[in-house]
Amino acid sequence: MSFLKKMFKRESLDEKIKRLWESAKKLGWSDVDCKKKIQIYTELLNLIDENSTTFNICAILRNRAISYRSLKDYDSALKDLKEELKIAQRKGDQIRVMDCKKIIEETNNFKRKAEIEAIGGKKAERFKEMEKQENKLWGSGSDFDMAFETLFKDLESDDPDIRSYATRLLAESSRNALQKLISIYQECLNTNPNRSSLAGRVLGRKIAKGSDESITSEIARIYYGINVSFISCSCVYCSHTNKGIAAPVNGPRVPYYHQENDKGAYAVPVLCDRCGKTFFVVWDKDPR
Ligand SMILES: [Zn+2]
Repeated sequence: MSFLKKMFKRESLDEKIKRLWESAKKLGWSDVDCKKKIQIYTELLNLIDENSTTFNICAILRNRAISYRSLKDYDSALKDLKEELKIAQRKGDQIRVMDCKKIIEETNNFKRKAEIEAIGGKKAERFKEMEKQENKLWGSGSDFDMAFETLFKDLESDDPDIRSYATRLLAESSRNALQKLISIYQECLNTNPNRSSLAGRVLGRKIAKGSDESITSEIARIYYGINVSFISCSCVYCSHTNKGIAAPVNGPRVPYYHQENDKGAYAVPVLCDRCGKTFFVVWDKDPR
């Protein structure tokens, strides 16, 4: 091919896709760049379909979703993530399915927080106050202790938004806060089951983000270095699925059910994420 012919040769589809992909990768996270990225990913989505073996449509959907999220357009982000999840499920791509569910949960949390901030008022102020407490969890001494107990108390708030935000703040905070949750879970297991269960739940929510499935003790030990497993159980009052409930090592392997009281071989109290009532996960055979 002569030089001139090469110059004017039409770009192949693959070349075009590659060029667009590379140009999007060079952009940063300013609003202007995010808007540009969204345009590029939209163009790419018109060029690629689900069956492409060279390019993964899921990766493009994910990237566009994250760009939308960066612009605080949570609804568009969630739409893309749900589309990505559907395709990943059809393709049997388990790792992407898990990852995507986690990001959907995170995005829903961001969306809820933005809604609360937009409404303003007492709850928005309360959120800011909670963030101030979280900042103190990066320090030590009595400041740390007070901030930790304040947020820990919020885990039992009457308001589900406060409970959920306190869980997230404690779960995503400092190494010290995590260590404290682990010791509360262990130390209060026999003396103060409610306190132990609340701490265990934060640990469980952190590890089970996006997933309804049980977390075996083998995996939990890698994360937290203690004997614990995590299960899901629906609330006996409102049937909401409560995830990341801390349980004994054999908890997931021995059949369990929900109950209003703790009568059984072994029971764990659970404060329901949605309705705020306490129910019990009960095993007929001791799973310890
Ligand atoms: Zn409930």
